[in-house]
Amino acid sequence: MHRHAKMVGVMPTTALPVLPAEAVTSPQAVTSPAAPARPGRPAMPPQHLADLDLAGRRAWLTELGHKAYRADQISRHYFGRLVRDPAAMTDIPAADRDRLATAVLPPLLTQVRERTCDGGATRKSLWRLHDGALIESVLMGYPDRVTVCVSSQAGCGMGCPFCATGQGGLRRNLSTAEIVDQVVRSAEVAASGVLSSGPNGGRGPRVTVPSRLSHVVFMGMGEPLANYARVVAALRRLVAPPPEGLGLSARHLTVSTVGLVPAIRRLAEENLPVTLALSLHAPDDDLRDELVPVNERWKVAEVLQAAWDYAARSGRRVSIEYALIRDVNDQPWRADLLGRLLAGKLAHVNLIPLNPTPGSRWDASTKPVEREFVRRLRAAGVATTVRDTRGREIDGACGQLAASEPTLPSSPLTSVGAVRRAGPVIDTGASVAQTRSLVQDPVGIPGKLVQSGWADSRGLGGKAKR
Ligand code: SAH
Ligand code: SF4
Repeated sequence: MHRHAKMVGVMPTTALPVLPAEAVTSPQAVTSPAAPARPGRPAMPPQHLADLDLAGRRAWLTELGHKAYRADQISRHYFGRLVRDPAAMTDIPAADRDRLATAVLPPLLTQVRERTCDGGATRKSLWRLHDGALIESVLMGYPDRVTVCVSSQAGCGMGCPFCATGQGGLRRNLSTAEIVDQVVRSAEVAASGVLSSGPNGGRGPRVTVPSRLSHVVFMGMGEPLANYARVVAALRRLVAPPPEGLGLSARHLTVSTVGLVPAIRRLAEENLPVTLALSLHAPDDDLRDELVPVNERWKVAEVLQAAWDYAARSGRRVSIEYALIRDVNDQPWRADLLGRLLAGKLAHVNLIPLNPTPGSRWDASTKPVEREFVRRLRAAGVATTVRDTRGREIDGACGQLAASEPTLPSSPLTSVGAVRRAGPVIDTGASVAQTRSLVQDPVGIPGKLVQSGWADSRGLGGKAKR
């Protein structure tokens, strides 16, 4: 029996709680270093300047006894110059630098491992958070852009059975700053020029990659819209110009969701025209109920309507993600049904060759089946691409790397079974975890790669072979 068949009847059916709002301008609104974790709640990291907007940072520093304008100075270092070392902040009096940096730039991400391929142009990082949780991000350099794929949660509570991250349970939501810092750290790496080393470890033709990180996709660990307030705050930090934020274009940000309808509708109201990617994976409710458990709550028709409304509101084409799974969702009739659902809509289909998770009986579709699926979609007038498999040799990293790490704490807050009984949890910090890895497709969205070894491995401080 296929694994997905076992999933029938055990998916969450309960209504999801209303997404709580989070004030991002008030220092008190964000967990402070001194705030003890409430019993049964995961410990959030110390507050970091990226948790707050500029006004919030000024208020925070004033409370700490500094001049408010120090917030602008230190923000300019962090966001504008990508500098975190207090010694390099020479516009701040030497006596204040360390105290200031210790207070507002606590280290959030410790790099445990980095794996590279494509001659260094694709780099996957495993990060340890303050509480030992592990997350991953993937940096990808191309001739015309630099993209980072970030995690929004440690683990994920949505339980999609084909996704490696879904196997372990949600550990906790990431803070806004933990999300933003993945981007800032990646921007630092891009600025160092290492992405341009060229394929084959420099032995092949040299490919020049821009030194400025330009694109961010929320396709790492976790369901971004289940950590709504912090993800939206992170998006705001990413688009705000320095010193408030990184100054990226909203058009270059992509949020991928399993299809949390109220959150998609709320995102449409945020006046942040980011690209929405919707992980559909099946055009019919029978199969989508199995592949994407949250479909039990929001059906295909409802989630697509939310996507079309988002497209109309943002003016941006929605990317429909569809992992092609052999003999599960790759039949010609499903291609035709998908084509009928999407024809004439502001949509683009991204077919992702499935990356089988360890122990899974599912596999990617064969190439002829994949080609026929593409042909039928295109015949229906739907723009379709198959995700490029660049970086496949390091794909085992996202999720599997975290899972294989001996220090990975193995006590997710909520077991898979408990989540299935109680339903997915949004923005409260409990559920199911998994991971994966990503590569970029022609429209700038990485595909999730799970499995296989890493071609090359380099820790920041030297060799770090597994
Ligand atoms: N939780 C969000 C974003 C992270 S997942 C979401 O589901 O959209 C990013 C993408 O990777 C999603 O489209 C997801 O369905 C896909 N994915 C997960 N596991 C995969 C696998 N084993 N093979 C191919 N794609 C996978
Ligand atoms: Fe599903 Fe995305 Fe969560 Fe994986 S990360 S379980 S694909 S929602």
